[in-house]
Amino acid sequence: MTSIEDETPRVRTLVLDVGDWPGHRAGQHVDVRLTAEDGYRAERAYSIASAPGEPLAITVERLDDGEVSPYLVDVVREGDAFEVRGPIGGYFVWDPADGGPLLLAGGGSGVVPLRAMLRHRQRSGSDVATRLLYSSRSLDDVIYREELAETDTGLDVVLTLTRAQPPGWTGPARRVDADLLREVAWRAEDGPLAFVCGPTSFVETVASGLVELGYDPARVKTERFGATGAR
Ligand SMILES: Cc1cc2nc3c(=O)[nH]c(=O)nc-3n(C[C@H](O)[C@H](O)[C@H](O)COP(=O)(O)OP(=O)(O)OC[C@H]3O[C@@H](n4cnc5c(N)ncnc54)[C@H](O)[C@@H]3O)c2cc1C
Repeated sequence: MTSIEDETPRVRTLVLDVGDWPGHRAGQHVDVRLTAEDGYRAERAYSIASAPGEPLAITVERLDDGEVSPYLVDVVREGDAFEVRGPIGGYFVWDPADGGPLLLAGGGSGVVPLRAMLRHRQRSGSDVATRLLYSSRSLDDVIYREELAETDTGLDVVLTLTRAQPPGWTGPARRVDADLLREVAWRAEDGPLAFVCGPTSFVETVASGLVELGYDPARVKTERFGATGAR
């Protein structure tokens, strides 16, 4: 591993030095495998946080009672080594040629593969109209906060803060529901392409809400992180 960056008190990004990394697409993931001295192994999936062409990076949120994430967030140090398998996945991926308009919806750490897509969009000079709807517990929990605040042509970022809002907050302050989707999502008539990622309940609510708005189910791509973390 080459470097570690704190994103929030519970989340950090690990930049991994993989000698023969074949490159990856925006939206893919890797499997991280940890092996204890007694041979016990644990393996978990982590989305790739970096754009194609950038060094491989993952962004991990600590679940206090989890097995692998506390190790990756609290224990791992620069120079440590662990096994990584990938890149994996060919469905939840976006390339500029796929076009848009693009709706990216992320709950908590579900923003990670969407960030890879945003960086890919920017680095490739794509002008595909893009909206990111990102649900986070509080402003302090927003991952990539500074990066997302940077203006980029044709990109709108809508944050909803579900548990705590700073004084003067004027944005949405609730879980994503049908009304919020109606306000933020592109009109179905425009033929949008959607990527939805996060805890299973978030993904199911958003994906079914988009289909109710008339989105083509084949253009609503989903990635479920599991039942982790209530938002
Ligand atoms: C494709 C994919 C991509 C992902 N990308 C990311 C990413 O970019 N960033 C990220 O942070 N995560 C990501 N995840 C989630 C990640 O794979 C792990 O699930 C997460 O880090 C938790 O792992 P853990 O070992 O810390 O927790 P686990 O030990 O697996 O525990 C997970 C939760 O289950 C509960 N639990 C554990 N054991 C039990 C039990 N026996 N009975 C009841 N409850 C139990 C724990 O309380 C905890 O809340 C991704 C998942 C998938 C499938």
